[in-house]
Amino acid sequence: MRTIELNKRQEHILEIVKDNGPITGEQIADRLHLTRATLRPDLAILTMAGFLDARPRVGYFYTGKTGTQLLTENLNKIYVKEYQSIPVVVSENVSVYDAIVTMFLEDVGTLFVVDSKSCLVGVLSRKDLLRASIGKQELSTLPVNIIMTRMPNITTCEKEDLLINVAKDLIDKQIDAVPVVKPTENGDLEVLGRITKTNITKAFVSLAENN
Ligand code: ADP
Repeated sequence: MRTIELNKRQEHILEIVKDNGPITGEQIADRLHLTRATLRPDLAILTMAGFLDARPRVGYFYTGKTGTQLLTENLNKIYVKEYQSIPVVVSENVSVYDAIVTMFLEDVGTLFVVDSKSCLVGVLSRKDLLRASIGKQELSTLPVNIIMTRMPNITTCEKEDLLINVAKDLIDKQIDAVPVVKPTENGDLEVLGRITKTNITKAFVSLAENN
């Protein structure tokens, strides 16, 4: 299984290197009746994707790695900070009504609730707000801190974490988003960003497109 779509020329280069490696870029170009410059982008793609390896003064050789091995290696190089989005936060004192308005206006599915120091105290999902809305309470006077999921039960991540581990958390905990946090000196968590299923899908697509 290949994880990225190779064009005909790249497939041809792979065959040449498989059969003749180590082989220089010049020699590959000769075999294909192309210039070295024309070949350069293809060689760069094949090397970056991990199909080929290049050694100075030796040339290119085939790594023999399968698509699955390369996918795993590449997944283990993607960090939260590369894909995180801006968090949408509300204060713990706002009403459920205002939180619903914010969710619509900001076009997000999860709000993070913060205290006066901008530190994480809770999470509000669409269902939390829907559940409160089908009750008999007055939404404009009901504070969000009554209905939110609160600390310390919040799954968080940090910007240096691997994105794949956040993806596992989303699945294991059956949630849609986690806040990206930074611990403060007094043990609180400052909210810096968010990772949602959309960010993970974007990473997945860029892996397939190899950029
Ligand atoms: P939805 O409710 O729209 O399906 P989720 O699946 O994200 O969205 O939320 C399910 C429940 O988990 C909600 O009660 C929500 O407050 C809670 N939740 C959401 N994100 C987190 C998180 N990062 N950590 C802990 N609980 C969360």
